[in-house]
Amino acid sequence: MKKELSLLLKKFFGYDSFRPLQEEIIQEILNKKDTLVLMPTGGGKSICYQLPAIYLPGTALVVSPLIALMKDQVEGLVANGIPAAALNSMMPEEQQQQIKRLCTQGKIKLLYISPERIVTEADWFLPSLDLSLIAIDEAHCISHWGHDFRPEYTQLAILKERFPRTPIVALTATADKLTRTDIVEQLKLNDPKIFIASFDRPNLSLNVRRGLNKREKISTIARFIMRHAGQSGIIYCMKRVDTTRLVDELDAYGIEAVAYHAGMMPEERERAQDDFINDRVNVVCATVAFGMGIDKSNVRWVIHFSMPGSIENYYQEIGRAGRDGMPSDTLLFYSYSDLIIHRKFAEESGQSEINLEKLDQMRRYCEADICRRRILLSYFGEEAADDCGNCDVCRHPPVRFDGSVLVQKALSAVLRTGERVGIKMLIDILRASGRAEVIERGYDKLKTYGAGRDLPSRVWYEYIYQMIQLGYLEIDYTSGQVLRPTLLGRKVLFGEAKAHLALYRAPGNVVEAEKKEPTRKAATGKARPTTSKATPIRPITGGTVAETLFDALRQLRRQIASREGIPPYLIFSDATLEDMVEQRPTTIEEFREIHGVGQIKLDKYGKVFVGLIRFVLERKK
Ligand code: ADP
Ligand code: ZN
Repeated sequence: MKKELSLLLKKFFGYDSFRPLQEEIIQEILNKKDTLVLMPTGGGKSICYQLPAIYLPGTALVVSPLIALMKDQVEGLVANGIPAAALNSMMPEEQQQQIKRLCTQGKIKLLYISPERIVTEADWFLPSLDLSLIAIDEAHCISHWGHDFRPEYTQLAILKERFPRTPIVALTATADKLTRTDIVEQLKLNDPKIFIASFDRPNLSLNVRRGLNKREKISTIARFIMRHAGQSGIIYCMKRVDTTRLVDELDAYGIEAVAYHAGMMPEERERAQDDFINDRVNVVCATVAFGMGIDKSNVRWVIHFSMPGSIENYYQEIGRAGRDGMPSDTLLFYSYSDLIIHRKFAEESGQSEINLEKLDQMRRYCEADICRRRILLSYFGEEAADDCGNCDVCRHPPVRFDGSVLVQKALSAVLRTGERVGIKMLIDILRASGRAEVIERGYDKLKTYGAGRDLPSRVWYEYIYQMIQLGYLEIDYTSGQVLRPTLLGRKVLFGEAKAHLALYRAPGNVVEAEKKEPTRKAATGKARPTTSKATPIRPITGGTVAETLFDALRQLRRQIASREGIPPYLIFSDATLEDMVEQRPTTIEEFREIHGVGQIKLDKYGKVFVGLIRFVLERKK
């Protein structure tokens, strides 16, 4: 049977091997056992029920909470030659009847259905089917403990009652112990085996930058996007206004982006999402409303304009990058002002204790000077044996120096103001900024005024963050976020202890490989060529063979996708295009071996892709 499953995997999905746990899960389902599957986003949950659905006679029922998700999955399956359909209340009655007919005739292998339909269809339609298995996607929606509680999900117990012999597989990317128990109990799963995949996503680079002001953040983002020209990415913002402002700011750099937030008109929002999914626009500036229902596999980067409120949220959001397993970059901006806003949310949330604790974990992650991935994994209850080598801390391990004098300067300035200043004002004093408010408050008369002139404010920000983190200074949240020296800080101030700070370095590779300052349109008066625009059709010139080939393949993929009316990543994933660039198949037989090329796609697209590869290689000789 193992061999048979592998053959089906290659035939329908074009993959050579299973990912960890997939095969075991499939076996369990084929043995008619109930299962609970926990895998991170992009881990490969769908194959776990799609493959047994293909293998077994009859129709598999897949409960899915979002119409957009169902549509995506169905289109993906159909593109691979697997008969699949979705049933939801938004469809015209006629179409629903037609799909039901196909199902009862046994012509559909996978039927996606919304949870509220389960109850209405439980008496007549569902019993008329030859059910092979039942998959409950996003199963955490069943639990009040989870973050996406869906009342409709609580009625799904009816499935086990009506179809006691049909195996149920519940799948989710996020489930703590409580949610897990909830899923098992509420779905009435029969002694299910629980599969927990590693939550590690080694292809995501992890980067945190802190203490930047808005302007610095935006120019950092512009540079980042220019280095990721032609690639899709999401910028998560905390507030709606941030999304639209950011779109304007990026436009000034000649970068095209769209906004997405819950306050937009539904049509407008849908268009933004649609343009993004179909690679018509590469950058979306969104609130966290964006994402559920986005299965786009070629999202190459995710930026957090502000810090998320918990590690769960953060991990889910960055998880939207690199579903195809290809290297993808993530960048998080962290500042105390975000922290202050989140504290307020948490305090007002009704569950303040839990939420403040979660926020604190998030803060510690941002401030960490050990491998960030280890922190994430340990948060999810996993141990990593080694540092990851793909986070900013691993790539640029901190170098310590004796920073006692810096601490003394900062603390002495704070004390001389009578502990009445926050971070910004403190830096203004240290650097003798001459800002009106500094003068008005008489701080220019202080002995420490200008004592830290030798360091740029960027560097001071970093060191003061460290001083807070190391416990020399603290922020008093109860009185206007002023800074207060701690006992430990006073010891350093009076020379009784030394302070070891991590040397500030201009950020490394991932964040700022490009040395050139990006120019803003407003400043130069003319727009620079739009680097981020979805790749227009253009002649093959310049670049390495690999780059040219990848670009050409991507163009072809887009053309085919728009002709077929499905998103480009459903034609071939970035990983598949990348494999073509690497293998350079020039015959159909070679093309068959490409990762992600199944039988149907081989028949349908083999010729044109091989033709294009030959053409490019010929021209590049
Ligand atoms: P999830 O639902 O867990 O977020 P998906 O099921 O969408 O993840 O899978 C993520 C990506 O990984 C998809 O592009 C999928 O085709 C791919 N994938 C799944 N299983 C394999 C495999 N065994 N080999 C290669 N790619 C796989
Ligand atoms: Zn690391």
